[in-house]
Amino acid sequence: MTTVSLIVPCYNESAALRPFMAELRRVLDTMADVKAEVIFVNDGSRDDTLSIIRELAQQEGVRYVSFSRNFGKEAAMLAGFSRASGDYAAVMDADLQDPPALLPELLKAVREEGYDCAGTRRVNRKGEPPIRSFFARCFYRLINMVSDTKLVDGARDYKLLCRPAVDALLSMPEVCRFSKGLYEWIGFRTKWIEFENVERIAGETKWSFRKLFSYSLEGIVAFTTAPLSLAAFLGLFFMVGAGVGIIFIIIRELVYHCSVGGWASLVCIILLLSGVQLFCLGIFGRYLSKTYLEVKRRPHFIVAEESPRSPE
Ligand code: UDP
Ligand code: MG
Repeated sequence: MTTVSLIVPCYNESAALRPFMAELRRVLDTMADVKAEVIFVNDGSRDDTLSIIRELAQQEGVRYVSFSRNFGKEAAMLAGFSRASGDYAAVMDADLQDPPALLPELLKAVREEGYDCAGTRRVNRKGEPPIRSFFARCFYRLINMVSDTKLVDGARDYKLLCRPAVDALLSMPEVCRFSKGLYEWIGFRTKWIEFENVERIAGETKWSFRKLFSYSLEGIVAFTTAPLSLAAFLGLFFMVGAGVGIIFIIIRELVYHCSVGGWASLVCIILLLSGVQLFCLGIFGRYLSKTYLEVKRRPHFIVAEESPRSPE
């Protein structure tokens, strides 16, 4: 019998958890030849998510891990993968935006069609604020332009991974994690299954614009060093420009004996160059800060409570 671990990161999901579990149970009941191990990860919720998870552990036999505070979805996913014992594992959002009904199709791809992994991809962003969709598209275009790791636009974290893929993910100890990139970086033959975007069943999104922006920067810093080369390129460009300018001024002085006028233009140039320098310093700083976070080797999360290790 195939065992599948389903990892559900939860942060303030008290309203969504019971409908989620009911839908998941309905789908699992149709899959007689599959043994599911459901692992809820409570990511420091402030509402009664944890008590609902404890109840589900009693009633449905699910497992859970509860963090000492909010560590973010990436840490919750990692905790889930580290606890997963199935032949396959998948992360599923608690708000039913990752439809459990796709599970049979995902499993068919890995069991019958010879794929190692099966990922899901939403084909539209219906119900999402247009400005968020616009920036998301720009992000995908930008990162695919500058990084060797190509990301699929609309790909969800809801992806069925085979055991070697899970082990590959666990072997990457980086603290600043960007799973969409890590999923692609590890490789493996993947079938993409497309679906229409579904709106969250209850509660609200935990991703503010600011959080998403910083997450996308995380992705760029983690998967390409192109911005560092950009700094060097800009420096070279302005150095050559300044060299040409200096030669021009010297020749003009020698030939026409006219001194350079216009301090305003000079100030503009100084400001422009200082801006470029600060911008480049900012890019270096971003990489340096990530390196600093990595070398500290702090744990990805701290577990406050956990269900017994042995599955039911
Ligand atoms: N989540 C989490 N920790 C966080 C933020 C979110 O575990 O700090 C979980 C959340 O409970 C949900 C999933 O990650 O199950 C996706 O979050 P959300 O639905 O808010 O994101 P969106 O679908 O709007 O991108
Ligand atoms: Mg969601």
